Amino acid sequence: MKRRKFINQSILASLGVFSSCNAAESSEHQNKASTPAEKIIRPLVISTWEHGLQANDRAWEILSKGGKAIDAVEQGVRIVEDDPEITSVGIGGFPDRDGNVTLDACIMDEKGNCGSVSFLQHIKNPISVARKVMDETPHVMLSGEGALQFALANGFKKENLLTANAKKEWEAWKKEAKYKPIINIENHDTIGLLAIDKKGDISGACTTSGLAFKLHGRVGDSPVIGAGLFVDNEIGGATATGMGEAVLKTLGSFLVVELMRQGLSPQEACKEAVMRVVRKQKYKDFQIGFIALNKKGASGAFCIHPGFNFALKSENRKLMIDAESYVS
Ligand code: ASP
Repeated sequence: MKRRKFINQSILASLGVFSSCNAAESSEHQNKASTPAEKIIRPLVISTWEHGLQANDRAWEILSKGGKAIDAVEQGVRIVEDDPEITSVGIGGFPDRDGNVTLDACIMDEKGNCGSVSFLQHIKNPISVARKVMDETPHVMLSGEGALQFALANGFKKENLLTANAKKEWEAWKKEAKYKPIINIENHDTIGLLAIDKKGDISGACTTSGLAFKLHGRVGDSPVIGAGLFVDNEIGGATATGMGEAVLKTLGSFLVVELMRQGLSPQEACKEAVMRVVRKQKYKDFQIGFIALNKKGASGAFCIHPGFNFALKSENRKLMIDAESYVS
């Protein structure tokens, strides 16, 4: 499983960065970062799972040169969409139960503009289609065939997104055809990425192929503004990963941002949003995780089960951080 691959600590150490830290170090980092007296940290980028490392690097190229957060978040997650080895985003994503790769994505900028596509097929970079919806239409969300037509009309190329590996996994799954998502196993894993730029503007992007072997037509939280992603430039941003149905039922990312508005740190807000799911929904045998950042560049995360981590990049830091979890 890709995200669990051991990161070559010595290489990262020789570059003067840390490869990972545990939940305790992470919360120490969070607490320090959210102390009001602490200096404001920006630019800064955080993103879900280990594939976040490469996404953050790309976003950083833009942020470090004074570029805009909205460009950094789009370009950052595209790297993951483009990677055919990643089986949960873009090309190479696992298909639905009928063998169709269907993609969901959304993007939100510092002005509260947003764009989204859901149930989009044959287009490798749904995040850029979502950006076009945001920039060039009066709408927020396009879906299915209409989203595809819009993408083709705007110069996106129609491609086969079902790689040989994803097809093989689907064929193996079909032998039993049991729909049973497994906690922390690579049958989902959205990339959600949040950035604050030098100016202090915050944007976010979220893109996924959704749950592997889902029902045809299923759309999760990831393209739904407020569920998979939410940004309020006065406060901060949040994004989600894991069982989309659970996140949808609580509009999780919106909730995290609203909790930060009430004074919670990013870490506390993510925890409270996870606890809302745990308390309100009778079952908890699935994974969800949130990451968040606020206007000062403090960040945090929380999840239900151990195993969720996120990547952080700022001027002097390149980290993989294990999120604290409800279940120990
Ligand atoms: N949230 C995504 C979905 O439900 C999947 C994931 O992030 O694991 O489609």
